Parts: sequence; C-alpha cells; structure tokens
Amino acid sequence: MNKNTSSDSVMQAAAAWRTVLGESAVEIEPSALADHGRNAYGSPIRSVAILRPQSESDVQRIVDIAGKYGVPLYPISTGRNWGYGAASPVTEGCAVVDLSQLHKIRVVDAELGIVSLQPGVTQGMLAEFVAQQQLDWMVPVHGGGPTCSILGNALERGYGLTPTTDHFAALTSLRAVLADGSMYESPFHAMGAETLGSAHRWGIGPYVEGLFSQGNFGIVTEATFTLQRRPEHVEAFFIRIRDEAQLGELVDQLPTVLSALGATVAGVNLMNDRRVLSMSRRYPVDQVGPGEIISDALCAKMTKNAGITAWTAAGVIHCPYRMRKSVRRELKRLLPRSLSRPIHMNRWRVHWAKAATRLMPIGQQSIMQQIDSIEALLDLADGIPQRVALPLAYWLRGDAITTKEDLNPAQDNCGLIWYSPLVPMKSADVHQYVAMVERVCAEHGIEPLITLTSLSERLFDSTVPILFRPEQPGATERAQACYEALWKQGEQIGCLPYRLGTLTMSRLFNANLANHASLLQQLKRTFDPKNLISPGRYISIQ
Ligand SMILES: Cc1cc2nc3c(=O)[nH]c(=O)nc-3n(C[C@H](O)[C@H](O)[C@H](O)COP(=O)(O)OP(=O)(O)OC[C@H]3O[C@@H](n4cnc5c(N)ncnc54)[C@H](O)[C@@H]3O)c2cc1C
Repeated sequence: MNKNTSSDSVMQAAAAWRTVLGESAVEIEPSALADHGRNAYGSPIRSVAILRPQSESDVQRIVDIAGKYGVPLYPISTGRNWGYGAASPVTEGCAVVDLSQLHKIRVVDAELGIVSLQPGVTQGMLAEFVAQQQLDWMVPVHGGGPTCSILGNALERGYGLTPTTDHFAALTSLRAVLADGSMYESPFHAMGAETLGSAHRWGIGPYVEGLFSQGNFGIVTEATFTLQRRPEHVEAFFIRIRDEAQLGELVDQLPTVLSALGATVAGVNLMNDRRVLSMSRRYPVDQVGPGEIISDALCAKMTKNAGITAWTAAGVIHCPYRMRKSVRRELKRLLPRSLSRPIHMNRWRVHWAKAATRLMPIGQQSIMQQIDSIEALLDLADGIPQRVALPLAYWLRGDAITTKEDLNPAQDNCGLIWYSPLVPMKSADVHQYVAMVERVCAEHGIEPLITLTSLSERLFDSTVPILFRPEQPGATERAQACYEALWKQGEQIGCLPYRLGTLTMSRLFNANLANHASLLQQLKRTFDPKNLISPGRYISIQ
C-alpha cells in the first residue's frame, strides 16, 4: 500500500464512491482485484479498488472523493497495455479508474475525417462505426488488436501501420479532469471553434496537450482524432535479406527510399529470422529446455524448412490505383541492386494465391497460413483491426493459437515485456544494436526476436518482445534482468526506449535528466500537489 494510503481511508473512499457511482461500479473484493491485476508482465503491484465511471461527471466525483480521502487514482482506458504493465498501476495503493464504459463516438466533421472518442472506444468499435456510417476513413490500428483503446494507445504514443503511424500525432485536442476536479479543455474548443481545434493540434499559445501523453497530469475523458482517408490502393511488399551485409546495405539506402516515396510507403519493418519464425511456426517446446533458447543449429534447420532468410523486410504501399506500378518501379530502382526483387501482394493477388492453394495437398497448407497472415497484414494496412500479432505472446507454449477467439495475454498468464528502443537509421548503429540484443538475450535465456520499424527517414523504433513463461521458476526474474541489461547496454550505444513499462518508469529518474525531471516535478507539484493522478507514471514526486 502507498505509504500515504491507509486501509481506513480506502474503505471510507469506497463507501463515498459507492454512494455517487452505485454499488456495482466500485470493486474492492481481493480476488477481483487480483484478477484485474494480472498483467503478463511480472509486476506484483495490486490496486485497492476498481472504479467504473459511466460519465465525465462521474470521473470528476471520483477525483473529488480521492482528494478528500487521499487515495491515489490510476486511470486506464481499456487496460490492455500488454507488455508494458497491462492495467496495473505503477505504485501500490491506487484505485484503478477503468474508463472502458465511456465509449461514445461522435463525428466532428465527416468531410474532414475528424472524430471525437471517449477512452473506452476500441479499434474494433471505431472500425464497426466507420463501416456502419459508410465513412471512407481508416482506423489507426496497431498489432495489439481490436480490443485496445484508441485513446489509451495514443496517450502512450503508440505506433501502428496505417499512414497515421504515430498515434499521438493524430490526437488533435482533448478534455481532461485535473487533480482538483476541474476540467481542462484544448484552447480552440474552449473558444467555441471545435472544427478548427480538432483539425489543428497546436491550438494557440504553449502546447499543453503533450503533458497528458506519457504523463500524469489528468484523466483524459475525450479526445478528437484526425483519420486518414482510405487510399484507393493498398499493397504489401516483402524483401528477402540473405545476411547482415545485405541488411546494412538496405538500412543505409532506406532514408533515400522513404524520403523519395514519401507517404506512399507508410513504414518498413525489418525482422530477424527468429521473429519471422515466431509468426509462422510453433515453438519447439520439446527441443528447448527451461532457461534455454532455440539452438543456432535448430534455428537454421527451422528457417531452412520454412524458407525464411536471415532478415525479412515487410512494407506497405498506400497510393492512388493508377500510381501503383510507378511506385513499384521506383521502389525497385531505389533499392540496393544486391537485394532480391520485392515481392508485392495486394488483395487481388491474395485472392488468386488462395484459390491456387486450395488445390494443394494438405501437407502444403502451411502456405495457406502464410497467405492468411499476408491478408491480415493488408487488413491492418487498410485500417481494419486484426488479432494477427497477438499469438506472439503465447509462442513459448508451443500451442496453435487461433486468432478467431478473443485473446488477452494478461488474463491468459502469458509472459511478455516489450523492450522498445529507438535506433538511428544507419548500418553501423543497427549492426551494433542487433549484436547487443542477440548477446544480451542469449545470456538471459530469452529468444532474441528483433523488429526494426521505420518511424521516419532517420529513425527506427525497435521492438523486442521479451517472452517468458511465468509458471517456470526464475523465468520472470530472468526476463526482468534481461530488460534491465538491454536498457543499460542499449544506453551505452545510444539506443533508448521510446516508451516504458510500469516496472521501469523509476529508471527515468535515475537517468541523467536533471532539468527535464525537475521542471516536470515542479509542474506536477503545482497541478497535483497530493500526487493523486497516476503516481510514478513517467513523473515521480515521491
Ligand atoms: C502482440 C502485441 C502486439 C502489440 N502491438 C502494438 C503496436 O503495434 N503498437 C503499439 O503501440 N502497441 C502495441 N502493443 C502494446 C499494447 O497492447 C497497446 O499499446 C495497447 O493499445 C495499450 O493498451 P490500451 O489501448 O488498453 O491502453 P491503456 O492500457 O488503457 O492505456 C495505457 C496507459 O495510458 C494511461 N492512460 C490510458 N488512458 C488514460 C486516460 N484516459 N487518462 C489518463 N491516462 C490514461 C495509463 O497510464 C495506461 O496505463 C502490442 C501488444 C501485444 C501483446
């Protein structure tokens, strides 16, 4: 329990919350709290209550009562922050404010593609809404799947696959309940100019909205988002990369490719062989002991059988239909000559590949599975949410996981910590980074599954899922030690995470951040002197 929160004050606050929210909106049963706190992350932090407001004014009442009894709050939108702590608070003694019941969608401007979303609106809900209303806009989707909140992800500055790769960049204005119970509203909205304020994210004067992303200055109850118009043509391309030398050539040429092709190539993912294996083959549980990883020899055998090269590049093209051939030509012209030709897949090609595969013998049906994955990738690129990435969290179990069912890695007791550093788009940096991750992961008995995703023509965001089996003795500690070592050794070569999990946020304050941290702490002390909202989330004043 937080040193300032006594169980008496929790009980008094719970009684007051029940009076204003109703019995069923306040949960304090230990078993329910334990279930809710399962996080696939190895964080033992438990909450003291779960509160389920139905409206913005409920949220204000919750904050008033929290202030009166000194019980800190930890707001979540849908709490599916898998690999970063899921729905768990950063510190003990918080009441989780679960905003998933606030799920209104409002079209601010259908022609300009602007919607207003409450925190509980998931990718799946927005996709359904857009389809029902026959709006020609794409949902900013990502690998977490249809049950993740658009707003929660944006507040974490998550990334996706549609042309709106940076999800916080699509958030243009917001409303938030502050620690004293008052409301913050973005400036143009407060001046009655809703369309303007929803189309121009900077408003006027100092930009304040950024404080609510990766921060703890308020509970965001609504935000506007600009959506991208659905392009006429979407296709994926794949490039087989033989070895590290070819990888280096591609990395050094990517800045030119991305700046020349601009928005038509939304992003390029570079994945190592083990990462591609994790998406296409079952984990060989019977051939790998606890605390070990797939041996190099077995990995070579598996990748050979599956036709996987050392690295694979996967990218997405969004363009007008008539431009598709020239984009393909230009891409081929700009890529290093030593690379194999990109393989392009669009819906039409997937349709024919599927038809051809149906005629194949049963033994070759794994090709069908690969085509299904390509189709799911095209859906994601088209702004249609899919669960295709989620089986990754279950990979070490060696089971076949179907993406048809609702998957929740936290509730299913998976083990996953994301290490997600930024890496300069230069071959020397990438080689150094890849060698570091492979070495550190192997030392900790963690599979080195590496993806590098282009965020711009200068930078990759790398994602390394540290997978572990929490039921195996010592596995959680090993995974956490691996994360720590990756952070430390990554920092030494100039690679730092773009986003943190709840267990590691305190590291930010041990880092050499004197000015940044002290300015934020001064602001936090001014706006939230009792440290009521999300204590310890990126900013700590303890
Ligand atoms: C296999 C797999 C693939 C994934 N792929 C991606 C990916 O491609 N891109 C990506 O970004 N993530 C990815 N994730 C990580 C994660 O699942 C998503 O980022 C997810 O969207 C975060 O959970 P959420 O949307 O429920 O947000 P929440 O968990 O609700 O919110 C995240 C955090 O933001 C804060 N917060 C949320 N709402 C509010 C609010 N209203 N007011 C104040 N603070 C708030 C809280 O501190 C909360 O802990 C992936 C996870 C898995 C397992």
